[in-house]
Amino acid sequence: MAPAWAVALVAEVCAAAGAPEPTLRWRRAARAASSGVTRPEGGVVALTAGSDELDQRLTLLHELAHWLTPTRRRRRGRTAHHGADFYAVAFGLYRVHGIPDAEALAREGGRYPSSLRHARALGVVGADEAWRRHRRALADRARTRRAPRVLVAEHTVRLVRDGRWTRCSVCGVRVVGPTLARLRRRSGRHLLLDVG
Ligand SMILES: [Zn+2]
Ligand SMILES: [Zn+2]
Repeated sequence: MAPAWAVALVAEVCAAAGAPEPTLRWRRAARAASSGVTRPEGGVVALTAGSDELDQRLTLLHELAHWLTPTRRRRRGRTAHHGADFYAVAFGLYRVHGIPDAEALAREGGRYPSSLRHARALGVVGADEAWRRHRRALADRARTRRAPRVLVAEHTVRLVRDGRWTRCSVCGVRVVGPTLARLRRRSGRHLLLDVG
């Protein structure tokens, strides 16, 4: 059974939008975060409610935004599920129905980073900063990927036996299979990188 506040919220949101009400399905999950799904064809909004009450509310409003913006509109063959139209409705609902902007940005942005771009365009307070932070994090990650740290400088492989295995005595890497066969035929070079 859905809690009374959730039933009331569905009624209020749909009345304000002049939309029919979906059937609200509600079940509980033993975790903090909620998740939801909207089936326009079945007339159903289904929520799996975690323990965090603000997250329950935000997730229900997210699904109601789907309910109010059925995305039959397709762009390049793909449904714009979380597009500009959707987020105009979603962030509007969050604001009107008691989700502070900072919480909306943190939670929606945590699940769907692309929402930050839309929130910024919609002028949600704090969205510009959150969007910039996200872009910086992506750039940092790309930079560390492009420049792996050299763990062991480039060297000529020196094969040594180590029990059942053969290793390179310079860097300690185990050499097996076709690589071992090749290195036995002719010398090779090693460069050990940390790509983590
Ligand atoms: Zn969604
Ligand atoms: Zn080596």
